[in-house]
Amino acid sequence: MDERELLDELVRVATRLGVEVRIEPFETPPARGGGRCLVAGREVILLDARAPLGGRIGALASALADLDLDDVYVTPEARDRVERERDARVLPREDVPLAPLSTMGVGGPARWYVEAHDEATVLAVVSWADQRGLPIRVLGGGSNLVVADAGVNGLVLRIALRGIAARESGREVEVTAASGEPWDDVVRLAVENGWADLECLSGIPGLVGATPIQNVGAYGQEVSDTVVAVRVLDRLARTVVSLPPTACGFGYRDSAFKSRTPDRYVVLAVTYRLRPGGAPLVRYAELERHLAGRGVESPTLGDVRESVLAVRRAKSMVLEPGDANRRSCGSFFVNPVVPAAEADRIAAAAGDPTMPRWPEPDGARVKLAAAWLVERAGFARGYADGPVGISTRHTLAIVAREGARAADVVRVARRVRDGVLARFGVRLHPEPVFWGFARIEDGLPET
Ligand SMILES: Cc1cc2nc3c(=O)[nH]c(=O)nc-3n(C[C@H](O)[C@H](O)[C@H](O)COP(=O)(O)OP(=O)(O)OC[C@H]3O[C@@H](n4cnc5c(N)ncnc54)[C@H](O)[C@@H]3O)c2cc1C
Repeated sequence: MDERELLDELVRVATRLGVEVRIEPFETPPARGGGRCLVAGREVILLDARAPLGGRIGALASALADLDLDDVYVTPEARDRVERERDARVLPREDVPLAPLSTMGVGGPARWYVEAHDEATVLAVVSWADQRGLPIRVLGGGSNLVVADAGVNGLVLRIALRGIAARESGREVEVTAASGEPWDDVVRLAVENGWADLECLSGIPGLVGATPIQNVGAYGQEVSDTVVAVRVLDRLARTVVSLPPTACGFGYRDSAFKSRTPDRYVVLAVTYRLRPGGAPLVRYAELERHLAGRGVESPTLGDVRESVLAVRRAKSMVLEPGDANRRSCGSFFVNPVVPAAEADRIAAAAGDPTMPRWPEPDGARVKLAAAWLVERAGFARGYADGPVGISTRHTLAIVAREGARAADVVRVARRVRDGVLARFGVRLHPEPVFWGFARIEDGLPET
């Protein structure tokens, strides 16, 4: 079968599957010779008439690789071409360095690595790894992650699914974003359209798919306030399902995805319910002061976004290329929640009755400021231990500098945690996840 006959045969396979193939000259040539798309609400496979024959065959075979060929007649040559395309798509690369893919910028390579641009690839990659008994790590923007110097002896699946859709109904709008969308693009879109309830989450690095994992939050908002559905691949049941918020087990910087069933789900998309025309949330004194300093009395969503970004920038809490504190995971420890009596004891030990504390809704416990505890335990901003230290602008951020290794990050993290434990009897828990370390004790790797 020559190339022309193969293309004709693949077109016939598509027709048998009920999918139309159109071959048209594209105005802007795509990277490949075409692909699946919707035309007037109908799915068609569009191929670029100007692409070389091989390019059109590859694009058509790739589009067919997403479909189930079992129920139609397919010649062995055509089936072989589609299967090669399917395999090539999931064929992982070997020994891919992970340090450049994480904001901390430390650690070794992934033994196997794949980037998934669509759901079909996620499914194919997961079964490829499962068939080989390989552990899978799902990577977003790498902004809440420390990779061990030895790297990850498994498959790292980097999520690159894109697409955002909004559906307005009455007084609400539901925004569904694919898990590979940069989070701050979603926030900006919401603010620009006047949809309230994400504005305080401006400037948080990372991708949409990670937002439900630790229920990202800042300045009084958390994604659990707006998440209405999380579309996931359930690796256990081998199905794609949409989970309601009640199944997500959201807590403070926590969720069932993070602490109860850490390897079970791959997040494919998240839907947030927002309020068109809603007023912004200004709950934090720091934000209020910044807005007042700008002379803003009745802030719009845009005003709040601007102030949040400015306040975050001053603490190196947005990623900026020239920032000397940029290599971090943001806050390294979460704020501890302790019984009220315990908080009184800690304030007394510190000799400071003004110790910051916030009562929890249950009335019995209070949340303490991890940054305050770290500082009072003797770790000030700018503290350094070799190439790793504490940000010069934020006590809770452990930062890596030139030459830092994952072992240096862990050593400083343990020193800080041990210092706070010795001084106040409070054990801090880390916020980032750790990949590739031999032993983790109470959330932190052993040195
Ligand atoms: C400068 C800076 C400031 C920060 N400020 C904040 C803040 O204000 N508030 C806050 O909450 N966090 C903050 N963070 C932490 C971090 O940005 C968030 O936790 C973010 O949501 C992580 O997204 P990511 O895509 O980078 O996830 P990654 O670091 O790639 O992954 C983190 C975890 O989520 C899992 N994961 C990622 N994507 C998926 C998916 N699609 N399916 C299943 N699991 C997945 C990973 O397996 C991993 O366990 C900050 C970090 C930095 C560097």
